Amino acid sequence: MIVRLSVSGGDRQESGGMSNWTTIRYDMPVERVARITLARPEKANAQDYTMLSEINEAFDQAANDPEVRVIVLAADGKHFSSGHDLAAGTSMDDIDAIGTWCHFDAPGAEGYMATEAEMYIGLCWRWRNLPKPTIAQVQGKVIAGGLMLVWPMDLIVCADDASFSDPVVAFGVNGHEYFTHPFEVGARLAKDMLFTGRAITADEAHRAGMVSRVVPRDELEDTTLELASHIAKRPMFGLNLAKQSVNHTLDAMGMYTAIQSAFGLHHVGHNHNFRLHDMLVDPSGIDVIRSEA
Ligand code: ZN
Repeated sequence: MIVRLSVSGGDRQESGGMSNWTTIRYDMPVERVARITLARPEKANAQDYTMLSEINEAFDQAANDPEVRVIVLAADGKHFSSGHDLAAGTSMDDIDAIGTWCHFDAPGAEGYMATEAEMYIGLCWRWRNLPKPTIAQVQGKVIAGGLMLVWPMDLIVCADDASFSDPVVAFGVNGHEYFTHPFEVGARLAKDMLFTGRAITADEAHRAGMVSRVVPRDELEDTTLELASHIAKRPMFGLNLAKQSVNHTLDAMGMYTAIQSAFGLHHVGHNHNFRLHDMLVDPSGIDVIRSEA
């Protein structure tokens, strides 16, 4: 049983929330739990640079709020996220970089590699290391860049209609930029996902250890908030120490180095495509993906 502070649409704008967010919402649905909700359902929550920047600001707000012990990342609509919104037209001029990368408009490989290092793996790694437990609340499709919001979270609760895919090998790259696939689902299933581009089901993800709980769609929100509320009874620093200990174990297994290595290969792919097709991705990839949808 959980006691809700706000049923829907409630937020804490009056107590420090950013008032100018346009792609997300922020609220405290139950005691000690902050919730960030992706709010572009008409675009299947495709992520442009503005949305990524706003998510990051919201995570910072939750991390800095002493009343918050657990952070939930949820999404409006039928699908959690269809990935990066490459047609959005937002650029690095639209956001304030928070990492140390720079020269985002430099020619050659330099500018784009800096952009992806800042906006993609830079933000993912930052969220993965937030000093508070995080829970992804997932329904519907999670495609490519969508996984880059789900996988940095500590726990994943999903509806039984959820599915997870990274089909971008069809575009002539190795996978999406936050390359933790073998850590998330194991090496064999990671290769299956990447080589075939197919979506794995919620049950398959659960069996692989990628997902923490699978529940009927109409129980998704309650289950997530009950789990968050349960965790939030524990002391903040104990949770922080437990999280760091697990993350350090993954780091000792080479997680960070593997991500950086795959990121370098990802940019070999982008530059190969530029030499052959004068664009970042192989343009034939979209037809391959659509033919198999
Ligand atoms: Zn890329």
